[in-house]
Amino acid sequence: MLHVQSFTFNPFQENTYLVYNEKGECLIIDPGMYQALDNKVLFGFIDKNKLTPKMVINTHTHIDHVFGVKDCVERYQIPFGFHKLDLPIFESAVSAATLYGLQYTKAPAADFYIDESKEISLGDDQLQVFLTPGHSLGSVCFYSKEYHFVIAGDVLFQMSIGRSDLPGGNYDTLIHSIHSKLLSLPDETIVYAGHGPKTHIGLERMNNPFLQ
Ligand SMILES: [Zn+2]
Repeated sequence: MLHVQSFTFNPFQENTYLVYNEKGECLIIDPGMYQALDNKVLFGFIDKNKLTPKMVINTHTHIDHVFGVKDCVERYQIPFGFHKLDLPIFESAVSAATLYGLQYTKAPAADFYIDESKEISLGDDQLQVFLTPGHSLGSVCFYSKEYHFVIAGDVLFQMSIGRSDLPGGNYDTLIHSIHSKLLSLPDETIVYAGHGPKTHIGLERMNNPFLQ
């Protein structure tokens, strides 16, 4: 059984997720902790629930999704991965932080690259990887067919979609990614978005104004 726990951190109100199983093994997805209090909340939850983080994986590497990567990697000595096509974005995170007037200590380089052809394993469970460009070149979503959820990063939001006006973004590509990779999932699939509340694929297919 996989559980999903969400947290909202940093000035961008970014959602960080922990996915964990009954053995306490855990994935840290998009760690966006910015302040000491954010670390206290995330690490406090991990400690209290006796979780053992196994890796940090990112849906993409925009600054608001990588603020906390370094602290997670150093604290737990675990590998960090994202899709290789997001490398230019990852490399520009320092200048992006400067642009926004925010503190950012560069995250360590990726230990591995996430690829659509390789599932992410946590104990006996697997998450499928979908390459869903359009918000950034290397945006990916993590899908659990068995437990009916998808971690969608900044691709699909409740009644909205991700920005496509940032470097590497493209509106038509984004819409195509959502239609071909996400809207084809079962209605009951819970969508855990990179910002805002969770939603369901069925609800978005019916009501999302950008997808009609
Ligand atoms: Zn983003």
